[in-house]
Amino acid sequence: MIIKNKFENKCTECKRVIKIGTEVEWEFGIGIRHLKCPKLRNYSYEKLLTLKKCQECKVKLEGDVFISDNNRLCMKCWENTFTYKGGYFG
Ligand SMILES: [Zn+2]
Ligand SMILES: [Zn+2]
Repeated sequence: MIIKNKFENKCTECKRVIKIGTEVEWEFGIGIRHLKCPKLRNYSYEKLLTLKKCQECKVKLEGDVFISDNNRLCMKCWENTFTYKGGYFG
């Protein structure tokens, strides 16, 4: 859900501090992130399908690829986002 940031806190995606009063996306148990986080790049799905490199580690994508939060990722990075969001490395 979209809320106004009440505390100075870090974006769960790019780890930059978001100022109080900024509109952010908030998920219970996960935290806040920019509405348009620079890390997510906001590519359309069609655009994502044309990308040849993992957006996280820049490795060349071959075989299976994964799309998470509008990022096109290799399997390793995809698993990282998954475990991070599950809170294991929170
Ligand atoms: Zn961010
Ligand atoms: Zn990767």
